Amino acid sequence: MQPLIAALAELLDDDCVSAPTAAQLQDSTEVRGITARADAWVAPRSTAEVARLLAYCNEHEVAVTARGGGTGFAGGAVPLDGGVVLSLERMNRVRSLEPAAWRMCVEAGLTTAHVRRLARENGLLFPPDPGAGELSQIGGNIATNAGGPHAFKYGVTGAWVSGLEAVLADGRVITLGGAIRKDVAGYDLRSLLIGSEGTLAIVTAAWLRLIPAPEAALPLVAVFPDTAAGVDAIERVVGSGLAVAALEYLDAATLALAAHGFPGTLPDGGGFMVIAEADGSAAEAARLAGEVAEALGEGAGVLLAPRERSEVEALWRWRDGVSLAVSAHLGGKLSEDIVVPFERLGEAVAATLEIGARHGLHACSWGHAGDGNLHATFLLAPGDADALARAQAAAQELFELAVALGGSVSGEHGLGWVKRGQLARQWQPAALDLHDAIKRIFDPRGILNPGKKLSRA
Ligand SMILES: Cc1cc2nc3c(=O)[nH]c(=O)nc-3n(C[C@H](O)[C@H](O)[C@H](O)COP(=O)(O)OP(=O)(O)OC[C@H]3O[C@@H](n4cnc5c(N)ncnc54)[C@H](O)[C@@H]3O)c2cc1C
Repeated sequence: MQPLIAALAELLDDDCVSAPTAAQLQDSTEVRGITARADAWVAPRSTAEVARLLAYCNEHEVAVTARGGGTGFAGGAVPLDGGVVLSLERMNRVRSLEPAAWRMCVEAGLTTAHVRRLARENGLLFPPDPGAGELSQIGGNIATNAGGPHAFKYGVTGAWVSGLEAVLADGRVITLGGAIRKDVAGYDLRSLLIGSEGTLAIVTAAWLRLIPAPEAALPLVAVFPDTAAGVDAIERVVGSGLAVAALEYLDAATLALAAHGFPGTLPDGGGFMVIAEADGSAAEAARLAGEVAEALGEGAGVLLAPRERSEVEALWRWRDGVSLAVSAHLGGKLSEDIVVPFERLGEAVAATLEIGARHGLHACSWGHAGDGNLHATFLLAPGDADALARAQAAAQELFELAVALGGSVSGEHGLGWVKRGQLARQWQPAALDLHDAIKRIFDPRGILNPGKKLSRA
C-alpha cells in the first residue's frame, strides 16, 4: 500500500482513504492539458476528521486539494502536486433547518440542488443557482463564490452565507459568523474565505440565509435579428428600472449549437436570444412581465412567455444545458467567464467572435447579460493540440479585452489553475502583494491547493 494511504488510514477510519481514480482527479475544465497527480483520496465524515487530516498534512507538508462536486471550470479541484484529494461528499448533513427564521446550517458536501429543494419545500428560496446544481456542492459554491442566472437580482453565493465553519491549514477549527444577519466585529474573514478556492482553508459547514419564495416567476424569451438589437433591448430593460430576477443572453453562434433542444419553436437563424424573468407576488410578477415584454418586444422577432410550471422548468433546464450542448459540437471547448460593465456587453460579444476568427477557431458566447458576464468560448476537439494552443493564445486576448473594457478576467468561475497569474493584469502591485501575503498568513507551508489562484505568473 502507498505509504501515505497507510498513514492516513491509521489516522482516520479505514474506509475514508483510498487510491484516487482517474475520474476523481478531474473537474469540468475540458481539454486544457492539466496533468493531475495525487497519492490519496480522502472522504472524511466529520469536521474533527478534516482537522486531524490537515494537522497531519501540515506537519508532513503534504498537499491537500479540496474537492466538491468537481464541476468547476478553472481546474481548481484538480490536484497538481500529489498529496491528498480531500472530498467533502460524505459531509452532507443538514445541521439545522429553521424555516420560521429563514435560515439553515448545512455541511459543505450537500449539493446545491438539495439546499434549494429543502428551501423550496419550506416555502423559502436559496437564490444562488449555478447551472450544475445537482452535482456541485454548497462548499464548492462558497469556495468559488458561484453565481448563476438569478445573481442579477439576488447576488452571488457569498450574499447568502451568514456564517462559516472552516478548518485551517494546521488543523485548527474556526467559526466565523453564524445564525446572525449582521456582523461587523473584526475584519471580514468570512468574506475572505468565500471565493478562496480551497487555498486558504477548508469549508466544512455554512449558515445560509433564505428568503420567502416569490409567489410567481415568469420568464420571457425574445429573439432578435442581431447582437446590436438584443443588447439595445437589454439596456432598455435595465435603463427603465425593470428589476428582473434574471437577464440572460445567447449569441447567434451559441443558438445555432443549442437551439435543437429548446422547449418551444424558434425561428431559423436567430441572431441573439434574451431570457428575462420577472418574479414577486403573482400581481407584481405579472405587471413586471408585461413591462419587460414591452421593452423587449420592440425589435424582437419572437417573444415566448411560458407560464405552466413544467414549461418554465423545461426552459431553465435547457438554459442549464447550453454549456454541454456547445461542448458536444466538437467534443470540447475552452470557455472563459470574463465580465465587463454590462453596457459593454455588445463589444465583448463581437470581440469574442473576432478573436476566434483571428485564431481560426469556432467561437461563440452566452451568459449572464445583466451582470455583463460572458462565457466566451472557443470550440475544440479533444486531443487537437494545435487548436488548444491557438485557443490558449485567444484566451489571453479575451483577458486583455475584459480588462481594457473595465472588467475582470473572472466573473464567477475563479482563477484556479487555468487563469493563474491573470490577476496581475487588473490589480496594482500593492494589491497583489496583499493577496500573496494573505495566502502566506493562512497557509505558511503552502499545503492548501498549491499552484492555484496565483496572483502572478
Ligand atoms: C454545466 C455547468 C454549468 C455551470 N454554471 C455555472 C453558473 O451558472 N455559475 C457559476 O458560478 N458556475 C457555474 N458552473 C461552474 C461550477 O458549477 C461552480 O464553480 C461550482 O461552484 C463548483 O462547485 P463544486 O462543488 O463542483 O466545486 P469543485 O469543482 O469541486 O471545486 C471548485 C473549487 O472549490 C474548492 N473547494 C471545493 N469544495 C471546497 C470546500 N469545502 N472548502 C474549500 N474549498 C473547496 C476546490 O478546491 C476548487 O478550487 C457550471 C458548471 C457546469 C459544469
